[in-house]
Amino acid sequence: MAIRTAEEYMESLKDERVVYFDGKKYNGTTMFEDPILKSGIELCAMDYRVAQMPEYYDLFNEIDDDGTPYAFTFKPPTSSEDLMRRAELIKTLSRVCVGLPGGAKFAGVDSLHALTSVSHRIDAELGTNYSERVELFRKSLKANDSSLVMCMTDVKGDRHLRPHQQSNPDSYVHIVEERPDGIVVSGAKNHITYAPFTNELVVLPCRNMTEKDKAYAVAFAISPGTKGIKLIQAKHDATNLDLIEHPIYGSRYGADAIVVFDNVFIPMERVFLKGEYEYAIEYTAMFTNFHRLSGDSYKIADLEIILGTAKLLSEYMGLENASHIKDKLSWLSFYAETSQALGHCAGQNPIRDEYSGMVYPNPMYSNCTKFFFADNYHAAIKILHDIAGGILSTIPSPKDLYNSETRGLLDKYMAGKAGSSGIARMKALYLARELTDGFRVSGTIHAEGSLYAQKLMFYALADWEGHKAAARRCAHITEDGPIREDFASLPKFPVWNDVKI
Ligand SMILES: Cc1cc2nc3c(=O)[nH]c(=O)nc-3n(C[C@H](O)[C@H](O)[C@H](O)COP(=O)(O)OP(=O)(O)OC[C@H]3O[C@@H](n4cnc5c(N)ncnc54)[C@H](O)[C@@H]3O)c2cc1C
Repeated sequence: MAIRTAEEYMESLKDERVVYFDGKKYNGTTMFEDPILKSGIELCAMDYRVAQMPEYYDLFNEIDDDGTPYAFTFKPPTSSEDLMRRAELIKTLSRVCVGLPGGAKFAGVDSLHALTSVSHRIDAELGTNYSERVELFRKSLKANDSSLVMCMTDVKGDRHLRPHQQSNPDSYVHIVEERPDGIVVSGAKNHITYAPFTNELVVLPCRNMTEKDKAYAVAFAISPGTKGIKLIQAKHDATNLDLIEHPIYGSRYGADAIVVFDNVFIPMERVFLKGEYEYAIEYTAMFTNFHRLSGDSYKIADLEIILGTAKLLSEYMGLENASHIKDKLSWLSFYAETSQALGHCAGQNPIRDEYSGMVYPNPMYSNCTKFFFADNYHAAIKILHDIAGGILSTIPSPKDLYNSETRGLLDKYMAGKAGSSGIARMKALYLARELTDGFRVSGTIHAEGSLYAQKLMFYALADWEGHKAAARRCAHITEDGPIREDFASLPKFPVWNDVKI
């Protein structure tokens, strides 16, 4: 069982979970009857399908000390190689799943790593036993080859108020009752990708907390089939599952859900934070350290598709030698390569966590990657729109391609340079429409954290003392006290002159 088949994974979802989608209610069995929900399940199942394929087996799987194979994603990373292997695994799944995060463990594993790291620190400082609980949780994940998702983003209500100040106390998930054997929680998390298609919801706080927010400082893991949990799915971005009209959304549904917790009992062995408010932000921050690299990794496959579509469309129209088109394609290439290089930099320059012995991606570089990618995404989309031409807005329906009366006409009149196919151009145009739609464009800004969240990190992580020392050495400022040692110890320059005051 330590490595499941896709069929075993799908079977495991058939419980009493409560799933709302497009005005209808489903459970873990009936959700298979809806074609869109089924496409989401199949998307997650790709994690299991790809992991079983001989050419990917060694990338996706690991052997435990007792010789049992298990999913590599559950291994706490202890080296840069582990981080880069995870990045490669995510990129592979993203390539398979048309440029968006694939797999049943995508963000959930980043939360497992955050739990591992921070629980050790809490235990060391407060004498709690959270890390033992996390290890038990990991053991069960490995043994069952479970899928898991990350529930961090609360619905948050009034963004300027702290959790305890909200007029709706359920704006953040919180403890409503403590029992000897567990806790009872209420509240809701938002945008939770793949939530209806998972075995485990991992819940972490999404911000810093004060003593008055104690009840909101809570972390736990629970099955979505547990009594009191309701999953309200995002609407789907395709009107149908036609793979020509919707090459991306006809094949995948991310099911980003609102997860409602209505007095849900969490057994104590699944509770990883219970009121230790000082550590709430530690869980948030450590999760983002890992998740930024995951985001950076799947986006490489997204960019490959954007670049390829722009180039194909330019060639279909005979524009490949036009200087302004080459200039735009060059920029796209710079954008994609820089995004990839920054992501590699984050994985190759990790930080070691002294409490757990794990390593995590370099937070400055991974935040730089996410920001660079997201901040420039609209510019990339603008280029694709520009190269595609007005037909992107006025393209006929694929139903006219299926109609034998119009297919020939479209093939003839949509064709560009000699020898090119009008149908091929139309397929590339449908892809361009989906690559540039609202879900993708707004999702790029906010998924893995809104732009301002990265800016906060740039400020917090910058070596301001080092930068000031560099400036003071240059301007010969000694009035503020000694210059930091690494700058003070640099060779004197210039050697032939001295500052008089
Ligand atoms: C496609 C997609 C998938 C996602 N998947 C997951 C997932 O699996 N799990 C998960 O936990 N989360 C997930 N997220 C959530 C994602 O991390 C959040 O969207 C992101 O952190 C922003 O939060 P928000 O959407 O609530 O934005 P909002 O809080 O509504 O932000 C809107 C704007 O308000 C600003 N703002 C917010 N609060 C303040 C404040 N106090 N002061 C000043 N400005 C403020 C923001 O900077 C932003 O500009 C996903 C998001 C998307 C789009």
